[in-house]
Amino acid sequence: MNKRRCTMGLTRRAAALFRGRCLDGHRADAFTTGSGAAWHRPAPMARLPIFARAHPVRRTLTCALLAAAALTALPAQAQSILRDAETEAFMADMSGPLVKAAGMEPRNVQVLVINDPEINAFVAGGQYVWVHSGLLAQADNVNQVQGVVAHELGHIEGGHIIRSGEGIKAATSVTLLSLVLGAAAIATGAGEAGMGIMGLGQQAAMSNFLAFSRAQESSADLAGARYLHTAGISGRGSLEFFKKLQNQEYRLAIPQDNSYGRTHPLSGERINVLREVYEVDPAWNKPMDRALETRFERIKAKLIGFVSEPTQTLQKYPESDQSLPAHYARAYAWHKSAYPQKALDEADALLAALPHDPYFLELKGQILLESGRPKDAIAPLREAVKLTNQPLISVLLAHALIATEDESNFAEAEQVLRIAVNRDRENPFAWYQLGVVYERRGDTPRAALATAERYSMMGDNPMALRSADAAMQGLQQGTKDYLRAQDIAMVSRAAIEQKRKKR
Ligand SMILES: [Zn+2]
Repeated sequence: MNKRRCTMGLTRRAAALFRGRCLDGHRADAFTTGSGAAWHRPAPMARLPIFARAHPVRRTLTCALLAAAALTALPAQAQSILRDAETEAFMADMSGPLVKAAGMEPRNVQVLVINDPEINAFVAGGQYVWVHSGLLAQADNVNQVQGVVAHELGHIEGGHIIRSGEGIKAATSVTLLSLVLGAAAIATGAGEAGMGIMGLGQQAAMSNFLAFSRAQESSADLAGARYLHTAGISGRGSLEFFKKLQNQEYRLAIPQDNSYGRTHPLSGERINVLREVYEVDPAWNKPMDRALETRFERIKAKLIGFVSEPTQTLQKYPESDQSLPAHYARAYAWHKSAYPQKALDEADALLAALPHDPYFLELKGQILLESGRPKDAIAPLREAVKLTNQPLISVLLAHALIATEDESNFAEAEQVLRIAVNRDRENPFAWYQLGVVYERRGDTPRAALATAERYSMMGDNPMALRSADAAMQGLQQGTKDYLRAQDIAMVSRAAIEQKRKKR
């Protein structure tokens, strides 16, 4: 459990691939767009199922649940962000009442998943709660996850942020922005674009993830209990989960690796305090939200199918299990093992039960697209987009449309992408694809503008400036696109100047 394991060959290869590049920023060569000569084939990892791996995030400290850690130089670990439309919708709905109870706006707080088998969660930057995939995989029900999120929100509300030097504040926002931008890129299959963005904030990230003191842990515990109370959610799950962690800590009493070597066990005292608070709460005996629980079981199966070795997934969800979560998990296991037909059979079993479930449609579309059948992927993806209007799925649909190499599909791809970037501007892969479509349609200035957007987002100011200038030369003055190009040029030029002055 505690041992960091490699989930599959691809992961290992991917990790090696990433490691070599993480500090040198983006690789512009993968993105010399504008040429439009070749349809960019995503890197192997970019073609993984709906969950997508991101650039490893260097992190020196874990929060939170398991302990306080010192801000000393510990070996950084590579991690990747997992983004998935269904998971994010679930996370938002599951945590929304708690966020409100904490006096914050749900739209200002994001709960994201990071690929790490360790059971943990942490807070960064004051508005992001990161939940490890290992925690979701080990949680028995949604109530347990809510207990964890409530605790993490307690850290946010308590302002438990260590500022270890000047400039940290600014650096933090840069880092987090790059994390999130990168996440958006990767979610849609732009492994390379995401890598570039992630590289920017790396150094800052080293020192900016948060560490918490014991006192802060207790205060977060109590704040979490308050949110659960206000939201009318039972503390049972929270208690169950803390006990689970405690048992694990006992089992792993001897430090076995860096992550556990720097943590300390949860004290029984801490759990006892919480028990007293929870048990007298009117919500203590309140049953769990069944609908949310059903969604949790799906998410969990999907996640396990995505991050685990296929053989492990098939052991946990054997063929004899005909439940929806089991079909879901197996679809990923087969897809990862390159058995597209078996994966499709599982997706079809899901769709037989719920023919218009947008995420089952998304899954089917993705399997088809990634097994070389972009044309067949269009119908299910189109329906999924219609049902959700979700930018992550929209970009996938555009990907399928462009991958058909059929010019009659480009107009729709352009339309879908324009809507997607309006809803989620910070998605380099969407801009990349938009650039490809414009180029194919002979609209060179707009292709240059899309390229400028992408470079600007990736923090490559010289390239952003160059592309924006090129766009302005071809665009009609005063139009919306011209003004946008002008803005990018201005901002990029200022950033270049500023950098020059600092030297
Ligand atoms: Zn904590």
